[in-house]
Amino acid sequence: MPLEYEELVAFINNSPTAFHAATNIRQQLAQSGFSELSEKNSWTLVPGGRYFVTRNSSAIIAFVCGQQSPWESGFRILGAHTDSPALRVKPQAELVREAYVSVRVELYGGTIVSTWLDRELSLAGRVLIRTKQGLQSSLVNIKRPIAIIPNVAIHMNREVNKGFEYNPHSHLPAILVAAPGNAKSGAFMELIASECGVSVSDVVDTDLFFYDATPARTAGINSDFIVAPRLDNLAMCHSILKALENAPNSNHTSAGFFFDNEETGSHTFQGADSSFARHVLERIVLAQKGSREEFLRAAARSFLISADMAHALHPNFADKHDDKYAPLLNAGPVIKQNGNNRYATTAETSAIFESLCQQCEVKVQKVINRADVGCGSTIGPISSSDLSIPTVDVGNPMWAMHSVRETAGTSDHGNIIKVFRCFLTDAFKI
Ligand code: ZN
Repeated sequence: MPLEYEELVAFINNSPTAFHAATNIRQQLAQSGFSELSEKNSWTLVPGGRYFVTRNSSAIIAFVCGQQSPWESGFRILGAHTDSPALRVKPQAELVREAYVSVRVELYGGTIVSTWLDRELSLAGRVLIRTKQGLQSSLVNIKRPIAIIPNVAIHMNREVNKGFEYNPHSHLPAILVAAPGNAKSGAFMELIASECGVSVSDVVDTDLFFYDATPARTAGINSDFIVAPRLDNLAMCHSILKALENAPNSNHTSAGFFFDNEETGSHTFQGADSSFARHVLERIVLAQKGSREEFLRAAARSFLISADMAHALHPNFADKHDDKYAPLLNAGPVIKQNGNNRYATTAETSAIFESLCQQCEVKVQKVINRADVGCGSTIGPISSSDLSIPTVDVGNPMWAMHSVRETAGTSDHGNIIKVFRCFLTDAFKI
């Protein structure tokens, strides 16, 4: 049996985009006895039944019906996001300049731009294809390095180590081909079409992203670190998946939210700031012959753990943290709080999560930013306010969030899975 962090490494390597992450989650849920429901059809649910619903092939809500109705025992929910910052390829973006063929990109989310330069990049995503049966969606993952965005040599920019602002339009086209005297456009779309086994004219549109072709792996003398792309937030998606796979039959209804587009603000059809979760939870109640009032009562009896990675104390930048709230790698999950409610955590929900960790004998940490350092946000406040469900924001500690390669602690991963599993049992009383 691989260790949990080894499974995470494999999951990340197989999930270069949100589409692939959702596909892998979907496959693993299906193998664990979950069946797929469509929002278009009516639902017949049974106590203990395991189900999932997808949107846009990039977001999933999975749930295990309780032995009691949701308005009697509520929902226990774990939430995360499937997307990560990346370089998104513009459709029809090929560019022939000098002797080179490149493609233009846009920044997806708040990436640390400089980390994408001088790395071998591969490409993955979704391609819409015209067929006789109508439009079809095809997942692609080229797997081999096909592009590079080189830095300019230090001799041509002596000031580079004093900081350099990359212009995403002019400095980030990724170079695919060097063909002196023979550079022609078309190579990029030909590659995409051949990956899908169709001709270029059948490719209608694309959702494609570059990713770092270097695989995720462990590092450190004692393998203390997972060094990987997209730890934010595939590490939490994987933890929730592991908890849901083994979710016991319980009185409450257990659920996992895997939303897309957190990195761009969640305000999409498949994001946390959509009606997706509200509709699914309400339909779980309605399918069990509950009323609208019973749905609202169910929400009031529920609890949500919003799981997204947290900033660990960086020993080389220790002054970025309030030393009283500076979480360490491999020292347990982190509760995130913010005085201006950028996180959903309250004193009450924090205390509930602390007692959960205590019950399963996992150490817990807290992060509150320095009062003079701004704070990120996540799906917690959006889901909590929209669903009227008390929520705690947590996550495992990590370094270099939004770099093309991020670092987290190996032992933290198994510990947070333990906590999430305990949360889904009746043994934990809220
Ligand atoms: Zn995140």
